[in-house]
Amino acid sequence: KQQDSFKMENSAVTVAVRVRPFSTREKNEKALQVIFMNSQETVVQHPESKQSYSFNYDFSFCSVDESDPTFASQQTVYETLAKPLLLRAFEGFNTCLFAYGQTGSGKSYTMMGFGEEPGVIPRFCRDLFSRLVSMENKEVKCHVEMSYFEVYNEKIHDLLVTRDEPNQRRMPLRVREHPVHGPYVGWLELGNKQRATAATGMNDKSSRSHSVFTLVMTQTTTEFVEGEEHDHSITSKINLVDLAGSERCNSAQTSGDRLREGASINKSLFTLGKVISALSEQALSRKKVFIPYRESVLTWLLRESLGGNSKTAMIATLSPSGSNVEESLSTLRYAQQAR
Ligand code: ADP
Repeated sequence: KQQDSFKMENSAVTVAVRVRPFSTREKNEKALQVIFMNSQETVVQHPESKQSYSFNYDFSFCSVDESDPTFASQQTVYETLAKPLLLRAFEGFNTCLFAYGQTGSGKSYTMMGFGEEPGVIPRFCRDLFSRLVSMENKEVKCHVEMSYFEVYNEKIHDLLVTRDEPNQRRMPLRVREHPVHGPYVGWLELGNKQRATAATGMNDKSSRSHSVFTLVMTQTTTEFVEGEEHDHSITSKINLVDLAGSERCNSAQTSGDRLREGASINKSLFTLGKVISALSEQALSRKKVFIPYRESVLTWLLRESLGGNSKTAMIATLSPSGSNVEESLSTLRYAQQAR
């Protein structure tokens, strides 16, 4: 136990894994469950080789069966993984949460969710704004701005600017708005709609693009020193990122030219892996390690929120099915190098 908490403190990234339930199609095909969880341990039983692989992460969330003790609702995932980041943000730290996994494994369900099952992003906003409302009469003044970008083909697209109104200015969100149905709801809807619209007609674009939702919170306190007003501000940047499908970066089954092709198809995803493992190496060795932030657009965008004085978490999403076992193993290995 002691060893575990020691490991967590020293690793650069908190890592969770989440297995989604079987889809209707998988159920109809009588797909085999190959991933099993037991508190921090994740075990993969390879359906062909019969070999089993064991991994350890900070948190395991299994949603295959509701009676499973590791079963995790959207609420549990938020409370366990994202809420600590919100608390860090109020303390003035930059934070980042990534969802990594193959297309169809539950990244957007986890990050955005839908309707009755909102994911991390809407829950985070709701929590943040209700905290701000409860702080209203205190000495601290808060200001929040939000942005929502998509990184596709190493280019950045603003999801909050409509094509009809390309010069539309982003409005700073007002704290006094309703904490639950606050202004962020409309902006999120707009961003999600634009992401979806851009994806149609463009061959599986959404699986190749990263969406980066960012909140910048500035807390200002005013002090009186010898009758003069002095403002102190702390700014925290919060990034909630739904990454491109990890099959774009899978090196488990590919080598040589195919690997290089994979790397160029999604340079940002590939570089993020390098950055995270360099950060984790740095945390373990306590020596300065070169971090290749400049090698991709995504890592460059997030450079202030990765490493250094910031808190990063990753949730790796998996399909429970035997047919996806190779992708799942490669996702688990990627997640492991982050710890
Ligand atoms: P991705 O974003 O990784 O491509 P999605 O989030 O779209 O994958 O998930 C694929 C499907 O599985 C969706 O229909 C989603 O609603 C469902 N799903 C994913 N994770 C869960 C979960 N933990 N519980 C219930 N349904 C889930």
